[in-house]
Amino acid sequence: MDADARLVLIVGASMAGLRTAENLRRAGYAGPITFLGAEPHAPYNRPPLSKELLQTEGQGHDDVAFPIRSALEENVEWVLGRAAQSLDVERQVVVDETGAEHPYRALVIATGLRPKPLPIDDHGLAGIHVLRTLDDAVALREALRPGANVVILGSGFIGCEIAATAAKAGAASVSVVSQSRIPLERALGPLLGAEVRRRHEAQGVRFFCENGLFGLVGDPGVERVILTSGVMLECDVLVVAIGSDANTEWLEGSGLDASDGVLVNGGMQAVRADGQVLENVYAVGDVARYPNPLFDEVARRVEHWNLPTETGKRAGQVLAAHIRGDDCATIVAAPFAPLPSFWSDQYDMHLLAFGLTYLADRSEVVAGDLTDECVVEYFRGDELVGVCGIGMRGAVQSYRSRFAAPVAAH
Ligand SMILES: Cc1cc2nc3c(=O)[nH]c(=O)nc-3n(C[C@H](O)[C@H](O)[C@H](O)COP(=O)(O)OP(=O)(O)OC[C@H]3O[C@@H](n4cnc5c(N)ncnc54)[C@H](O)[C@@H]3O)c2cc1C
Repeated sequence: MDADARLVLIVGASMAGLRTAENLRRAGYAGPITFLGAEPHAPYNRPPLSKELLQTEGQGHDDVAFPIRSALEENVEWVLGRAAQSLDVERQVVVDETGAEHPYRALVIATGLRPKPLPIDDHGLAGIHVLRTLDDAVALREALRPGANVVILGSGFIGCEIAATAAKAGAASVSVVSQSRIPLERALGPLLGAEVRRRHEAQGVRFFCENGLFGLVGDPGVERVILTSGVMLECDVLVVAIGSDANTEWLEGSGLDASDGVLVNGGMQAVRADGQVLENVYAVGDVARYPNPLFDEVARRVEHWNLPTETGKRAGQVLAAHIRGDDCATIVAAPFAPLPSFWSDQYDMHLLAFGLTYLADRSEVVAGDLTDECVVEYFRGDELVGVCGIGMRGAVQSYRSRFAAPVAAH
């Protein structure tokens, strides 16, 4: 076997790919690893992009870069600024955008997500932003100058965090336009969503709910947006934050089931559209779709920060065993049931959640006061599927153990 054919190729040089490589080393694999990453940057942490970095002039890659552990200083090649374009699982080769071929013995797909585009024609206008990458964040920070009129399309976490940052940065106006009735309604339900809205409005943010974009006016940059309700808003900066799509186009024709993220089994091994499991192809992080027995058998993509670590750990263990030639069936069969967790910071409000709150059909404040600090439980029928707190970190953290027992009994 030649040297190239022994290597592990990780496509996507970000958190999930990095965590997989670290866990491969931890599990004893000392062989070659190549990262192929579309961005020009070494792996970095994304949550600060909508928070500290977005409001702190001068912050850049050094402030958000993940440390590269000593185990990854040897025998690791970084091919950055080049996107994978296609995958041939028979030949075990990934072709990048320059046409260069990257053979592999084992492949890890860690290509994450990208923001959904503006749903209407942008007419090539300047001043329209999205936020996923460091470069996006730096460009948006420059645009969020004091006195700007900022319109944010979308009222999910990223939209709300940008609204808070823009309000703090001294924007003349901050308007959030959303199709939903209440901001963060899908993620946090009506109780917390309404409270988040109240806190934003107290800072001067305006919400235009059950609304959309009808048109844009301006030349060469956007100057006004027209909403579907007919309202016209002054706008120097338009941020599109209406969700994400999985970066899976390069997998077209590979035979993998990549219909909404890459379908994997409990060992993070990719499943083909015909149901066959590929023992040398893995998917991790935001791009992976898998069932979580804590909740049910439905395969889902979950976009929370702790899951690149959890999926990377699992993939690293299984892949190291596969490369050693061990029978991986027992590891793969052990339940993979990570508890999703996420947080969000908006003004002085710190939200912390565990579980899949969006599966709930009802929510209930069980401690504290909604308008101050509180704990909210989320239920699907009688089953606790999530918890979220404003503040009260200790109380929210104590739920970690309460989840596993009753819910895992599915
Ligand atoms: C602005 C922002 C704020 C967030 N805040 C929070 C938070 O407060 N709390 C929380 O829990 N989570 C938060 N998250 C979510 C969290 O950051 C993600 O879950 C995490 O970054 C996912 O890591 P990943 O490695 O799977 O994907 P990504 O970090 O998206 O990395 C994927 C990498 O693959 C690269 N890539 C894509 N296509 C190709 C290709 N064809 N070839 C090669 N490379 C490719 C991409 O350029 C990217 O570098 C936030 C995310 C964003 C964007």
